[in-house]
Amino acid sequence: HVHRPSVPLDPPFQVGCREPPSNPQRENATIIMLTRNEDLAGAVASMLSFEKHFNHWYHYPVIFLNEKPWSEEFVKKMTEVVSGEVKFETVPKQMWDVPEWMNREEVMRSLAAQKEKGIYKAEMESYHHMCRFYSGYFYDVEALKPYRWYWRIEPDVEFSCAITYDPFTEMAKHGKKYGYTIALWEVDNTVPSLFRAVSDYKREKHLALTDLWRSMVRASWTPIPFRSLQSLWPWRDSSGDSWNLCHFWSNFEIADMDFFRSREYRDLFDYLDREGGFYHERWGDASVHSLAAALLLEPRQLHYFQDFGYFHEPWRVCPANAKGKQLPGSSVLGSGDTIWTKEEDDGVGCRCECQPGRNFQSICFNHVQKGTHTKPWANVRQNTENGA
Ligand code: GDP
Ligand code: MN
Repeated sequence: HVHRPSVPLDPPFQVGCREPPSNPQRENATIIMLTRNEDLAGAVASMLSFEKHFNHWYHYPVIFLNEKPWSEEFVKKMTEVVSGEVKFETVPKQMWDVPEWMNREEVMRSLAAQKEKGIYKAEMESYHHMCRFYSGYFYDVEALKPYRWYWRIEPDVEFSCAITYDPFTEMAKHGKKYGYTIALWEVDNTVPSLFRAVSDYKREKHLALTDLWRSMVRASWTPIPFRSLQSLWPWRDSSGDSWNLCHFWSNFEIADMDFFRSREYRDLFDYLDREGGFYHERWGDASVHSLAAALLLEPRQLHYFQDFGYFHEPWRVCPANAKGKQLPGSSVLGSGDTIWTKEEDDGVGCRCECQPGRNFQSICFNHVQKGTHTKPWANVRQNTENGA
């Protein structure tokens, strides 16, 4: 029996366009982008898209993070592109290294073994550091300490609808802790023992099941018909619970750092870190954040930004535009364009430039907020249950 609330728990914060305030009150929030100097072109492309669709109204600060010193070129270019304050920070060595209690040579052998098995990006030491950094450290970077909220952006992403309201304000107002645009299935061989570790942690700490955990982790679920039974075993724990591998794609995140800075999250991260899976496997921050949310948050604390058009290779989401008139003076994507006012549009987007329907529609977390993404809110069709 599925409980279906008559009022959706998680409607979009805005349907269609709003007139952004001319002098907005910003939240205690920052944009963050971890990148390398070499990825300047992709980083610029992302920031231009971000500015065009949102930040030229709001002027949020952007903190760039890198484990290496920044190039002059990077600093100069980004200072031109970003309309808010910019900061160029160096990630401290202890947040970007094999922890001292691990044996470095063993770790290197382990990376080589993972490479043999063809595990995605597992041979790259830096990739493991990155996943661990985003799992357990970014929120403690000195420059981020004054801020409560962050919006994570990566090089080479695109925003394709106008974002005419402040997502931080709405998150705060609605008691949201974690916001996402795409949820999909984790690559199984990167996380063979992650679910078991989280599950052991849950048992040791006598944590009660939240509804979110319940819907993500189910004994009765085998929602991935294209996977062999064999590959399902690691996602089953001794109590019979299994993880469906669903996770939020963390290259986009808008979230409350109070969640990550909580004793509960830190405790879980430390436990997972001690398991060694950031190096002996290739645990990703997306799955770590998602399982932590499942364990520690309630569904109502999540927000699905279904009104955002977003692209990160290889997936794109594109809402249909909301029917309606274009607001006077809101001619950000070109001059008074009408792309978004087509008669058949009955979605939630604002001046989306992408083509709805021709995109990735696998939001596997529809299970999680069951009954909450029903018409008229959802134009995301649940038609790719069986193949991401
Ligand atoms: P993918 O999306 O999982 O394929 O991973 P990416 O290559 O996009 O990396 C995720 C994020 O971490 C992006 O913001 C990258 O710019 C950043 N990143 C990854 N590796 C490194 C690294 O070695 N150094 C720095 N400074 N940033 C990195
Ligand atoms: Mn990426």
